[in-house]
Amino acid sequence: MSAVQSELETYQMYVNGQWTASDSGEYFESYNPYTGRPWALIPRGNARDVERAVDAAQRAFTGPWASLNASQRGALLHKLGDAVAEHAAELAAIEVRDNGKLVAEMGAQLNYVPQWYYYYGGLADKIEGAVIPVDKPGNFNYTRHEPLGVVAAIVPWNSPLLLTAWKLAPALAAGNTVVVKPSEYTSASTLAFVRLLEDVGFPPGVVNVVTGFGADVGTPLVEHPLVRKVAFTGSDKTGQLIYETAARGMKRVSLELGGKSPNIVFDDADLENAVKGVISGIFAATGQTCIAGSRLLVQESIHDQFVEELTALARTAKMGDPMNMDTQVGPVTNMPQYQKVLDYIDIATGEGAKSVLGGGKATRPECGDGWFVEPTIFTGVSNTMRIAQEEVFGPVLSVIPFHDEDEAVAIGNDVDFGLAAGVWTQSIPRAITMAERLQAGTVWVNTYRAVSYMSPFGGYKRSGLGRENGQDMIKDYMQVKSVWISTASDVPNPFIIR
Ligand code: NAD
Repeated sequence: MSAVQSELETYQMYVNGQWTASDSGEYFESYNPYTGRPWALIPRGNARDVERAVDAAQRAFTGPWASLNASQRGALLHKLGDAVAEHAAELAAIEVRDNGKLVAEMGAQLNYVPQWYYYYGGLADKIEGAVIPVDKPGNFNYTRHEPLGVVAAIVPWNSPLLLTAWKLAPALAAGNTVVVKPSEYTSASTLAFVRLLEDVGFPPGVVNVVTGFGADVGTPLVEHPLVRKVAFTGSDKTGQLIYETAARGMKRVSLELGGKSPNIVFDDADLENAVKGVISGIFAATGQTCIAGSRLLVQESIHDQFVEELTALARTAKMGDPMNMDTQVGPVTNMPQYQKVLDYIDIATGEGAKSVLGGGKATRPECGDGWFVEPTIFTGVSNTMRIAQEEVFGPVLSVIPFHDEDEAVAIGNDVDFGLAAGVWTQSIPRAITMAERLQAGTVWVNTYRAVSYMSPFGGYKRSGLGRENGQDMIKDYMQVKSVWISTASDVPNPFIIR
């Protein structure tokens, strides 16, 4: 280890209730995007680490975890929620350092994350089978909802603790055990969080965390025959690969993928609110959210006025240290993503789009050596351009004019993705019609970005498969068994199927 490396904070993976280095003994650096410098060392896992973790998870599934009843599992999840709430500030500080998320956002997010553990903890002992009044005389039939076994939770870098909770809480409530693979860019907060599971008394092996790269850890995890479900959030490209691999093992998948969501402003909208909604849709979290409203569709009649007001407010965004409570736009989380965002700005310019705000690296003194991109707004975008079709995952907004409702729907739906859409209008019939016609898993009217543990979330088209959040989805972590018991005194003629 070099002299510089030895000053870095060293993390361990968590397998079978033990803190451990990787099988290879290798580590990789995790960077602080605000300074552009490494701050932590993360174990570089491989297929043998995956093997150890899945083996531990399988043993816990049939052993100590299976011996707890659903109410006991729920009580543990409740304690976990309390522990997250208690340690929210410390976890937030780690995620800000590793990810560049604003401390103002993280504070609010980590006060909300416990709700996932409370909600699914409460649901754990309310999953009931049914007695089916079957049409076959002399038979008693009932159903059981059983857990699947080992679940792989594969998480991206943009909201590690939140998106881990979305998978972990229902998976555990349903009685499964879990191997979590955080992103190689942001593993630290997950490793800090998992300590809380130990503290509140989860048996060893129920939750394991294997850190490392997609090819070294993600692939063997998805391929492992004992993994029965892959709960994935990430890019559509990786999602497709996982879907194909999981199909070979006949595994279940849930895929929460990317987006290119339209935020649609009609001329009858409350424009002041719409401006704020559009800004929150694309510049909050530096645009690094799957639900980013990266295409602003604005009605022709108000186009110029709206762009002017939008640009004026976006221009006031305070950039800088994400640990300052008043910072509004932080850095891009990692160097490849930073480069990708800058490349897309070049692509848009090359395609003929006109930048009316930003359009490059942020060189403000308060941004230091961090990976900052100026909030950027492009006008003159047509929906066929790459900047309108491809996910940038950064603070880059494309403005596209439309004439009427039909054209707004046509443009809104004319992308491969279908994660979310925003509609700004004061007309109730228009709001309802638009919500019906837009091909998106979530439609917001006169708001943007609201999500809750109670409400289903997921994508149409290339934005994914399955849903997270809400009551129904816990069944996606379970399988149904139908049990038939004969109440007849004799076995009927065996040569005839009844
Ligand atoms: P990514 O697909 O590159 O990586 C996601 C995770 O998959 C990481 O942990 C990575 O190591 C792992 N991985 C990579 N290759 C793998 C493989 N072959 N097999 C198994 N695992 C593999 O995505 P990212 O860049 O970390 O995240 C950004 C993407 O996530 C964006 O497209 C964004 O829209 C999407 N996202 C979606 C949602 C949603 O809920 N729909 C939420 C947040 C982010």
